[in-house]
Amino acid sequence: MKAAAFAYHRAATVEEALALLKEHGGRAKLMAGGQSLGPMLNLRLARPPVVVDISAIQDLRQVREEGDTLSIGAGITHAEIEDGRHAPLRGTAMQRVAGGIAYRAVRNRGTVGGSLAHADPAADWVLAMTALGAEIEIAGSTGKRRVAIEDFMQGAYTTVVGDTELITGIRVPRGGHAARWGYYKFCRKPGEFADASCAAWFDPATRTARIAIGALDGAPRLLSTLAAEVAAKGAAAATASAIAAAVEDAMPDKDGPHRKLHTAAVTRCLAQVLGDRA
Ligand SMILES: Cc1cc2nc3c(=O)[nH]c(=O)nc-3n(C[C@H](O)[C@H](O)[C@H](O)COP(=O)(O)OP(=O)(O)OC[C@H]3O[C@@H](n4cnc5c(N)ncnc54)[C@H](O)[C@@H]3O)c2cc1C
Repeated sequence: MKAAAFAYHRAATVEEALALLKEHGGRAKLMAGGQSLGPMLNLRLARPPVVVDISAIQDLRQVREEGDTLSIGAGITHAEIEDGRHAPLRGTAMQRVAGGIAYRAVRNRGTVGGSLAHADPAADWVLAMTALGAEIEIAGSTGKRRVAIEDFMQGAYTTVVGDTELITGIRVPRGGHAARWGYYKFCRKPGEFADASCAAWFDPATRTARIAIGALDGAPRLLSTLAAEVAAKGAAAATASAIAAAVEDAMPDKDGPHRKLHTAAVTRCLAQVLGDRA
């Protein structure tokens, strides 16, 4: 099947992209790497009259260190992060996450901003950014706003980004990067979306921790009570019963096998974080 006909525009700046979105009254669709939009166009699940290609916008392709925050342009690809092409992201948790997304061909084109905007519940960046406590920068015709990741994804494939807005960047606090980091996902085979996933970090110096689970029906969930226990007591808090209780709390409507898979993901993720040193 082929995509229905659409007009194609290649925007050179954020302002140009926003103007095109406004001109077409929200009926235009942004295209970043095209790795999710492309299949949707071809299957005619999306039939926008206009596609605005934002892959050439240089402002979306910057990575900066701003004090304790890493500012990552929405147009940075998974492969660039995997390959350590941007010095501030080298050796970070993000580099490890990037290398585990899909296949190399997808990683070459797919972007962090596109992945977050697409908001697939089983995707890697929504989970990793939830664990890292990121903020999403969104631009519209009236200016920019920042949204905490916990408030960003409203459900499966639904975010707070309006039809005439675009994601310009992601702001990631360094806290999670400096700490011990864990990431575990169950996939049927490498490169597939996750069936259950967990991202977590623990900083023994500041006694802070965050634990998030993904591949749920909607947005990832933070296991805040378990994280507080891990922050206070380290490995002693990560007992089988505490993990099982935290997962049950986060997904009470799911059946046993689902919860078991997520419990195993959390257990294996925390084993990476805590090892025998906590
Ligand atoms: C075979 C295959 C396997 C995959 N496996 C995984 C996986 O294991 N884990 C994973 O996380 N992902 C996976 N993906 C998805 C991949 O990561 C995509 O790159 C990602 O979902 C979309 O990024 P993109 O830049 O290609 O966005 P596009 O496909 O260009 O756009 C996706 C959506 O986001 C919107 N959009 C894009 N950029 C912006 C922006 N800056 N602001 C606002 N809206 C925007 C578009 O309008 C569109 O609605 C897989 C994809 C494929 C094809």
